[in-house]
Amino acid sequence: MGRLAIVSAMESELRGLLASLPQAECVRRAGREFWVGSLGGHEVVLVRSLIGKVAAATTAAVLLEHFGVESLLFTGVAGGLGADVRIGDIVVAGDLLQHDMDASPIFPRFEVPLYGTDRFTADAALSARLHAACEEVLTAIEAGRCEELSRAQLEDCGVRHAPRVHRGLILSGDRFVSSAAEARALQADHPAALAVEMEGAALAQVAHDFGVPCAVMRTISDRADDSAHVDFNRFIADVASRYTHAVAMSLLGMAG
Ligand code: SAH
Repeated sequence: MGRLAIVSAMESELRGLLASLPQAECVRRAGREFWVGSLGGHEVVLVRSLIGKVAAATTAAVLLEHFGVESLLFTGVAGGLGADVRIGDIVVAGDLLQHDMDASPIFPRFEVPLYGTDRFTADAALSARLHAACEEVLTAIEAGRCEELSRAQLEDCGVRHAPRVHRGLILSGDRFVSSAAEARALQADHPAALAVEMEGAALAQVAHDFGVPCAVMRTISDRADDSAHVDFNRFIADVASRYTHAVAMSLLGMAG
């Protein structure tokens, strides 16, 4: 797949994977640290984009223009919107839509002006590989043979069911969605939406502009409503970051 970028909004989401790149070279650019190295014989660039659509777009543009990456993978956490999308599940993006885009009445609501569409599609082949890697990791956890994460650790973080992988529409916007009313409004506008986050659709738009494949995986950290979650930061460190590590290893064909 050529040089692959692995991007997360927060450092804690990438921590597990960064630890696997001890020899990586750190290149500073546009206020970010880009870690250039190799994983399982594949060239990778790891970077924390910071939070929100502009931060994600800046990061993607630098990765493509300066680091010459040939595909983009975004990994992080998100709020679950689909009825059966639960905390601890993984959502792999099919399409990505900016739920706060509204240039109406000049353009239909949600349409990205002058693109003639309200959504960008993740690369089918890369997403299929990502989906398979996620399935492999969740199966390994259930079978007690995942090095990064055990069933007991999941339960400790409040995940008592066997987590699933979902594939479909992800919404992105510059807003942390944390009220049931807001979540309901998003569900009403986008009944197919599985999850909401703050970066994916921006990255997908930049990937579209550059004509490179992108894929997005999100671990569900909350239900985008008023229910208090155990501990957001702990969940990222103990679950999401470990999923990312294990999935990246599986995607790149490495054991573990
Ligand atoms: N508590 C964090 C801020 C997290 S902002 C801090 O102190 O730094 C939320 C991040 O998680 C974004 O990167 C976003 O993509 C994702 N996210 C998780 N749940 C979300 C939700 N319910 N709504 C929007 N974004 C969410």
